Amino acid sequence: MPFSDFLGNPETVHRLREMLARKRFPHAIILAGARGSGKYTLALMLAQALNCLEQPVTDGLPDFCGQCPNCSRIGQAKDLDAQFAEAVEARDGMREVDKKETRIFVQTHPDVLVIPPDPPQMMIKVDQVRQVIGSIYFRPAEARERVYVFTDSAFMKEAANSLLKVLEEPPEFATIFLLAENPGELLPTIRSRSVSFALGALRFEEIESLLARRRPEWNQRERALVARLSEGAMGRALSFDLKSYVAARSQALVVLNSALRGSDHTELFKTTESFRPGAEGREKTETLLRTLYALLEDLMFLESGTPQLVRNTDIQGELKKMAEAADFAWVQRAAQGLAEVERGMRRNLLRSLSLDAFATALERAP
Ligand SMILES: [Zn+2]
Repeated sequence: MPFSDFLGNPETVHRLREMLARKRFPHAIILAGARGSGKYTLALMLAQALNCLEQPVTDGLPDFCGQCPNCSRIGQAKDLDAQFAEAVEARDGMREVDKKETRIFVQTHPDVLVIPPDPPQMMIKVDQVRQVIGSIYFRPAEARERVYVFTDSAFMKEAANSLLKVLEEPPEFATIFLLAENPGELLPTIRSRSVSFALGALRFEEIESLLARRRPEWNQRERALVARLSEGAMGRALSFDLKSYVAARSQALVVLNSALRGSDHTELFKTTESFRPGAEGREKTETLLRTLYALLEDLMFLESGTPQLVRNTDIQGELKKMAEAADFAWVQRAAQGLAEVERGMRRNLLRSLSLDAFATALERAP
């Protein structure tokens, strides 16, 4: 998995590799970007390049082999969600006393430590930073460079202050990556001691052509749809669950059409019938609500004369018909109605009932 496998943002990757080439890699790097923009993937690739035993060169710049013992062990941390879930499960299985003292880490190489936010608060905690401090001043055992990857910028106050102390006097042989969706969340003093790189959103066309290579099973319309729904983040595009999205969307269309047409509710009730309480029903309803919002947003784009912003491009014809039957005020009312349903869900009202109420409340006067 060399750098050429990283999708998008070639200039940023190039600049980072130039820093590797000059052997003056910063001690602290902020990688900023939206969810799915590739922050974590890139941090691991850089950790591999810093420690690859083969040290290959491509296009005149340092790369990594992906095969040597260092590369392959670091690469095992690639699926962060799965590794995180495993660590959390291991902690859940502990005795109460041990549980309290155990923090969540992902470590597949002795010199590379991944620090995810610790549940249930989902923040980086001071004990996690203490663990970093406990090892960072020792020379790496099997790598050239110790690498620490903080996967989130939400730090508890004490944790941020402890990290700052490390950044004030970092050892020569360590690199810290701070991944941030919103770098403004980090202390200004942490930011000023780090070098920042941004992974920007990719253009739709860029994502579409990358998907053509990576997801050949999707047709052109599907690739166009996923490119628009993943908001410029390649990681989200690659992991997009197209099947569930399309399923949820067809239900959302039933709800909206039923509301638009008024009178006959057989179809609507059949759809909302399937939304029952319980964890599974809750998740299903949340997906439906998200899809409803996306459709209403598209209708709003059509109503306001900006059809180029529509994301559900594969059903543009159907959306146009709906937009003609509706008007700006209706779409707005629908969005407010949805917010109402969400509030109802938080109060645990029977979900199918509040959805029915939503659709019937939106009926247009004949
Ligand atoms: Zn290697």
